[in-house]
Amino acid sequence: MIEIKDLHKSYKMGNNSLHVLKGINFNVKEGELVAIMGSSGSGKSTLLNILGMLDVLDEGSYTLDGVPIVDLNETKAAKYRNKFLGFIFQSFNLINYKSAAENVALPLYYQGVGRKERQEKALKYLEQVGLKQWAGHLPSELSGGQKQRVAIARALAAEPKVLMADEPTGALDSKTSYEVMDLIQKINDAGNTILIVTHEPDIADMCKRIVHLKDGVIVEDKIVDQVRASQYV
Ligand code: ADP
Ligand code: MG
Repeated sequence: MIEIKDLHKSYKMGNNSLHVLKGINFNVKEGELVAIMGSSGSGKSTLLNILGMLDVLDEGSYTLDGVPIVDLNETKAAKYRNKFLGFIFQSFNLINYKSAAENVALPLYYQGVGRKERQEKALKYLEQVGLKQWAGHLPSELSGGQKQRVAIARALAAEPKVLMADEPTGALDSKTSYEVMDLIQKINDAGNTILIVTHEPDIADMCKRIVHLKDGVIVEDKIVDQVRASQYV
């Protein structure tokens, strides 16, 4: 699904350059649930942003579902991103003046899906995350955990090939974090490929594989016995 070879990324600020990713080699197969772990500033978000086509690499190659990403122009990249990738963020990134259902329907709108089908699908995915009865509510009327579940439903609605989550539990208390991880595990059980960036070891332990990023390189990449979040919820 994902193939990264010798990826490098630097940030340039004036005369200075910060070499953040220093030769990353990384593959992800369909159906995996991978944690990208590392301390703050280790380059996790930079890596995920490149994988999510929100940023571009300086050197190396990236192939997503057989398509070499480096060759895509901005317009093609945006189309490809909307079609193949779903994003979940620490701060949920919901639109405050739109209802839960309207938020979930948004990626479908950008895909050109008609109104009726958008509404049906929005309800279907809200039901999948246990929030069907909250469809008409605004984000401000929802708890943090509920907001993140709406964001997950929104990411799922576009039926992406890969779900990418940057610190999805970073703004949540432990119990709510485990509820969100329980949902993420169930979505993965259903066959979805998921990448999670986290600096929290107990969240990483709930994935099936942990990739440890340090000083711009992968220092460890291991398959782990998945801890089920359901035992904590
Ligand atoms: P993490 O997500 O692991 O905390 P990041 O990928 O956000 O790490 O950041 C890695 C390093 O790159 C940090 O030192 C950060 O300050 C720096 N950095 C991140 N984004 C930018 C940017 N847009 N411009 C300059 N430096 C950046
Ligand atoms: Mg980060």
